[in-house]
Amino acid sequence: MFNSNRSLIVGAGLSGILMAWELEKRGVEYEVWQSPDASLNSASRVAAGMFNPVSFKRLVSVWNAEEHMNIMRRTYSELESFLDIKGKIIHSSPILRVFPNNQYRDLWAKRIKDSHEVSIWLNDIEAEIDNKCTEEILAPFGFGIVRDAGWVDLPLLLDSFKSFLVSKDRFFTKTWSFNSKLTKSFCRIIDCRGVGASLDLASVGIKIQADHGELLTIRASMDTKGMCINRVKWLLPRGESVFKLGATYKWDIVQSAPTDEGLNELLSSIRPIISSTTFDGLEVLNHESGLRPASTDRRPYAGRVPGYDSIYILNGLGTRGVLVGPATSAHLANHLFDNTPLPLDVSLSRLKTLRT
Ligand SMILES: Cc1cc2nc3c(=O)[nH]c(=O)nc-3n(C[C@H](O)[C@H](O)[C@H](O)COP(=O)(O)OP(=O)(O)OC[C@H]3O[C@@H](n4cnc5c(N)ncnc54)[C@H](O)[C@@H]3O)c2cc1C
Repeated sequence: MFNSNRSLIVGAGLSGILMAWELEKRGVEYEVWQSPDASLNSASRVAAGMFNPVSFKRLVSVWNAEEHMNIMRRTYSELESFLDIKGKIIHSSPILRVFPNNQYRDLWAKRIKDSHEVSIWLNDIEAEIDNKCTEEILAPFGFGIVRDAGWVDLPLLLDSFKSFLVSKDRFFTKTWSFNSKLTKSFCRIIDCRGVGASLDLASVGIKIQADHGELLTIRASMDTKGMCINRVKWLLPRGESVFKLGATYKWDIVQSAPTDEGLNELLSSIRPIISSTTFDGLEVLNHESGLRPASTDRRPYAGRVPGYDSIYILNGLGTRGVLVGPATSAHLANHLFDNTPLPLDVSLSRLKTLRT
């Protein structure tokens, strides 16, 4: 089965496309398969595509923030050039973090005063407070800004890369699993099926949890000056008074579907931070949902599947696929083609549950 030079990538979500890009750059022969089953989840199709180097919960940098931000910017810019869609994939949208109380405001100020590692991403509170907050946004305890944040247009990226693959006869609508009998030969298979790989991966001791998320597209008459507004949930401007409002998180959902509970949770979350006139006038344009593929320790999984000589995975991108995906796919490609050891953070060897 594994006697050609061609690699097979299964799954054309974010992880599959990032992996394909790594192979493309190296001039490696490959093709991409995507299941025809529309009921199969594609988290990448519904994701808002946001990236943010700061974890607001504890007010610290997210894991490997600087490295991931650098590789992420470089990768999506390269893809924009390659696909001839410059300026259309990666967009800047600073985050205006509405402080929930005075303690949080004090913590923000302390992080800056102490030159805490997160402070490189945080804007000073006082410098911003008077001139940035618009009338429609309510922030009685003030707010801070994370300037180096934004979003990636995932549907555009996936569609554009798919068109490229189709034009080269390298995209096929086919299903694959560990039990599949292949008619063509491949030297390796890179499994990028997200939650679709859960059962197969469980059989070798790798756990992928489905983290169900819901997201709204709304129209609201307010001007956030291009900024994403965050207070637990977030409002991401998409132009012409349209915003993405997300997201919910729920475990143990097998089949993803939008729910009334999700709708209410999302709408009530922004009630305290926008004026009642704006809230009463908002219109829900779309309601979507998907299953995020989450690992047990919230780090991606990359590497060879135990018990299978030539099957590798890129999975577990979780809630921050846009930010962590480019670096992780590059690590896996360096491992496959340059024999570079995988960083322990992403390597499967960190898993105690692995069945070898
Ligand atoms: C509501 C919501 C909001 C989100 N917002 C953000 C955000 O703002 N920022 C961020 O960074 N991340 C966000 N995410 C997370 C992000 O979507 C994921 O990290 C990322 O998309 C995972 O990509 P993936 O390619 O691993 O999985 P998927 O996108 O699910 O892709 C897997 C692909 O494999 C295919 N497949 C499955 N089984 C088979 C099979 N047997 N044979 C062939 N093909 C198969 C599926 O059809 C699918 O296309 C969000 C997710 C959700 C649900």
